[in-house]
Amino acid sequence: MQTMIAFNEALSLVQQAGNRRPKTSERIPLARAAGRVLANDLRAPIPLPPHRNSSVDGFAIRWDDLIGPAPFTLRLLGEQFAGRDIGLLAESGSCVLVTTGAGVPTGYDTVVMREVTERTGGSVTIKRAPTARGEFVRSVGEDAQAGELLLSAGTTLDAPRIGVAAACGADRVDVFVRPTVAVFTLGDELRQPGDALEPGQIYDSNRPMLQALLSECGIESVAWPALPDDPNRLRAALMDAAEVFDLILTCGGVSAGDKDHLPALLHEAGKPIFWKVRMKPGMPVLFGELGRSLYLGLPGNPVSVLATFRQLARPLLDAMQGRSDGPVALLARLTEPVSRNAGRREYRRGALSVDENGQLWITPNPVEGSHRLVAAARSNALWVIDEHDAELNAGDVVSTEAFAPILNSSSAP
Ligand code: AMP
Ligand code: MG
Repeated sequence: MQTMIAFNEALSLVQQAGNRRPKTSERIPLARAAGRVLANDLRAPIPLPPHRNSSVDGFAIRWDDLIGPAPFTLRLLGEQFAGRDIGLLAESGSCVLVTTGAGVPTGYDTVVMREVTERTGGSVTIKRAPTARGEFVRSVGEDAQAGELLLSAGTTLDAPRIGVAAACGADRVDVFVRPTVAVFTLGDELRQPGDALEPGQIYDSNRPMLQALLSECGIESVAWPALPDDPNRLRAALMDAAEVFDLILTCGGVSAGDKDHLPALLHEAGKPIFWKVRMKPGMPVLFGELGRSLYLGLPGNPVSVLATFRQLARPLLDAMQGRSDGPVALLARLTEPVSRNAGRREYRRGALSVDENGQLWITPNPVEGSHRLVAAARSNALWVIDEHDAELNAGDVVSTEAFAPILNSSSAP
């Protein structure tokens, strides 16, 4: 195991390990598929739309019947509503009432909007000529041809894609099985919220935070009661979980302190892939294989958990479930200069806002310290200083990642 690798190397190592995991798929009802990752390409089994239909409420006409200037009067041949094709055929000098989505009967090529017509008994007067042949007619396959690739395996089923699958008639879809995740917090100082604190203790804030981060990724995790800093207890619990879960996620106990037992444990009982990444916070992050699981050990400080989860755990989970369209960073301009010692890729907290011109701005949160969770909760984004950058100016463009809604109206200059 090399020591201290660059962040990009760590990212590609977790992605490679995640990609290598065998993937299984399951067929689930479309109604439960939002957020899941499609396991097979979806091709249109039918053209969309499947039949030629009207895009407005109005009258289907033959363009060639309109000779000379408006108005025109046509005989009303019948009424064709959306839902059932009654098999009308065009006759010259006639029109058919159609509703939005109704099939345009054979022989008619144009629809005029109801609003520019007047119906009197059996005839319809068109007061304004349509602008072109074919106006307001949706053709067969206009949205997609039969056989066309609509969604590729690996894409996330968001709302419009769920709609596309339904429009193709799919009531079930094949999606990748989501990884099962075991969450462990550890530290002799940890008490569960709800219990009383003794001197020297703190509440275990990382466990619910990690589970919330996982559920934002669509993963329902299983969490253990916080473990003590006891190597034997840690080993027993982790090895048990490593028989059952796809991913073991721990936080705490990965640094170089006397009570940080996890690097040695992974070395003895598993296969380390990396320990320590040139990132801040989160430098001692630990990754490898344990039993039949992948293992990712996040540092204990809450802001390190937030940064390492978003930067490494989520890409890992995406790779494990075959997702090819994970989130991308948003570029924003700094509202003020920042200077620091270069050498690590650094994640800072900030307020991400959008101004009236659509420009994104990031206002750095001045608080430092990876234990300062309140400052993170008052922020809505992490933003990145590249490994080699030391001085940034106001207006410089940086990568950001929102973890809460972007603010409206800017605090920008
Ligand atoms: P460690 O990585 O175990 O050295 O922990 C680093 C810091 O994070 C220490 O101040 C710990 O008390 C704190 N910490 C570790 N685990 C948690 C947790 N589950 N919830 C809140 N703070 C934690
Ligand atoms: Mg600890």
